[in-house]
Amino acid sequence: MTITRAREILKHQFGYDSFRMNQQAAIETVLAKKDCVVLMPTGGGKSLCYQIPALMLDGLTVVISPLIALMKDQVDALRNNGVEAAFLNSTQTGREQTEVFQRVRNGELKLLYIAPERLLQPGDQFIDFLQSINVSLFAIDEAHCISSWGHDFRPEYIQLGKLKRFFPEVPLIALTATADKLVRQDIFERLNVKNAELFLSSFNRPNIYYRVEAKRNSYARLLEYLETRRDESGIIYCLSRNSTDSLAADLRDEGFNALSYHAGLDKATRDKHQELFLKDETKIIVATIAFGMGIDKSNVRFVVHVDLPKNIESYYQETGRAGRDGLQSEALLFFSWADVIKLKGFAEVEGNKSQTEIMLKKLNTMGAFGDLKTCRRKFLLNYFSEDAADEKCGNCDNCNTTFEMFDGTILAQKALSAVARTGQRMSLGYLIDFLRGSQAKTIWDSHKTLKTYGVGADISKNNWFDYFKDLIAQGFLKQAENQYLTIVLTEKSEDVLKGNVRVELFKVTIKEEKKASLVPENAPTYFQDLFDELKRVRTTFAKTENVPPYVVFSDATLVEMAAYLPLNQDEMRKISGVGDLKLQKYGVDFLEVIKDYCDLNNLESRINLKSPKREPKKRTKRDADGIDTYNTTLDMFNSGLSVSDIAETRSLAKSTIEMHLVRFIQSGEVNLEDLVDENKVEAIKNAIVRLNAGGVIAPVKEFLGEDYSYGEIRAVLATM
Ligand code: ADP
Ligand code: ZN
Repeated sequence: MTITRAREILKHQFGYDSFRMNQQAAIETVLAKKDCVVLMPTGGGKSLCYQIPALMLDGLTVVISPLIALMKDQVDALRNNGVEAAFLNSTQTGREQTEVFQRVRNGELKLLYIAPERLLQPGDQFIDFLQSINVSLFAIDEAHCISSWGHDFRPEYIQLGKLKRFFPEVPLIALTATADKLVRQDIFERLNVKNAELFLSSFNRPNIYYRVEAKRNSYARLLEYLETRRDESGIIYCLSRNSTDSLAADLRDEGFNALSYHAGLDKATRDKHQELFLKDETKIIVATIAFGMGIDKSNVRFVVHVDLPKNIESYYQETGRAGRDGLQSEALLFFSWADVIKLKGFAEVEGNKSQTEIMLKKLNTMGAFGDLKTCRRKFLLNYFSEDAADEKCGNCDNCNTTFEMFDGTILAQKALSAVARTGQRMSLGYLIDFLRGSQAKTIWDSHKTLKTYGVGADISKNNWFDYFKDLIAQGFLKQAENQYLTIVLTEKSEDVLKGNVRVELFKVTIKEEKKASLVPENAPTYFQDLFDELKRVRTTFAKTENVPPYVVFSDATLVEMAAYLPLNQDEMRKISGVGDLKLQKYGVDFLEVIKDYCDLNNLESRINLKSPKREPKKRTKRDADGIDTYNTTLDMFNSGLSVSDIAETRSLAKSTIEMHLVRFIQSGEVNLEDLVDENKVEAIKNAIVRLNAGGVIAPVKEFLGEDYSYGEIRAVLATM
């Protein structure tokens, strides 16, 4: 029964058809007033695990989050789904904060976001405040911050242990995307929730395509790559601040909309760049690892590593910022062993030998990943102690490439003797030029007389590069750990040179890469031009409401619209991500664009192709007891209850109730005056006419301000 309710909220308030992963289990646990710890990968949908219970429980849900920069967007996103939420943090004026406190006391809010620092106030002031109100749930976001083993320890988080002492009866839910066992242990202990249930989801990110390319002419290759992704958002990670700035500048010169981000920029600049990125006004951020923690942008389509991350954990986390909306996204790494060697220089932990060894080992594993010939996803999952379901995922470069072995003994002998004859002090590039008999001035004259000079002229530079890489990977050669990155022989070299062993090399025979499509395989393809048009409409709304575009609709939602072509409100409701309030606020405008597009191109709705997911409520919108939800609202309204009363009794948002009633204005069963204060009607009408809004509500609301609700405006509009 409760879960039916939860599913109803999932559909009506958030617009989704079914729960993902452990969402349902976590929600049930919280509703049973038990504590739980939820581990889910980025983009898994952790927020709903506490947002839905928040809407079902009586009192206030307090969300503790370290990401002050994100709070506003999170709250805006909730409000846009018709959820009463607010935040308290240091960026607000005293007055703004007082107002929030007031709203909490009046019981107007369902969710309150706070920074952990709040709980540090002397004399437990804030705890006192919480004890004076009705708190029904604590949600600890980014819970790994409580552990010094984690990569993002925040001492303030330690304070959160207090919560369970002061509020033993209030359930607590802790959420994180960090799976590490030590971190997990810390969460249970330090939060004082030793008996909490653990919900552990797979860390697989099926919609991320992993791709590794040799770090060679990587700038030219990067340009080529970005060219194919002109309209998409992406993050490019570099090792140093300087290269971040210069790469961003170079990309701008090439006409890309790119900005840099690193800890060396002043705060104002960083915030500005981050905001432009969030709002889709800047497509590319070139960043050091300083960028990311505060990034909740759902439509990051690609993450490129120009330099090697120092371990798999970082790589997984940074690439994980792609594709939070579940659409196909890509992680591209430019790999070279030279980077591994370079990073070794940074790996040393002063005065701590064992720690240094751990770092070096992690670095080598990162190198092994770069050189991998088998499924990259499987490697990642195994690294995190998870079994991959299949040998091949089908969604990484190696799974789409066929490798063939061939007898490369002669080639290997040529390569190794080139190294030996030139004295084991030349770089890879030089050796290849030497083997190919290059006439370049850089080739030493004394080398031009050697027997090996030019013996590999029949093989292309690129192929030689691959063979050398392979020989290094197999241990027949190695890169010396000096600043010149020279190639030297190994103990295995001699046998090759003497002809005692046969060397097998990889030959890349088929490189059949599937063109990544944003839609799942069984869905119809979407119309790109319509998608672009829908994005434009979204931008207009986002600008008027001063929120990031994904707060209006995610890319995933727009892609569905552009694929299934909903042509009326009922069809629109079936699109994932379209809840009641969004339907009410934006439905008309998006429908109009889709309708025009279909008229122009002679298309019909394809909504029936959308696989019916588990959706208990059908279009007739029957409640569990079989009564039409609209009629329930109408009956209650006719019996004299106010919109707020009905909302409360039915645990639905006020805006939902208003929307129900607007329908009856159209049918004449409810009078406008019953819903809208007489004195307001004229002003609303005028605003609608004056702004010539053609059914677009947002500018009218913007114009009229806080005193007028969307529901009131809709109601008046229904009579015009
Ligand atoms: P996390 O905090 O785990 O990184 P979020 O809570 O931000 O992830 O959710 C990521 C995205 O997935 C959001 O756009 C969210 O609205 C969406 N989402 C969450 N749950 C579902 C679901 N059951 N069905 C469809 N989309 C969902
Ligand atoms: Zn794979």
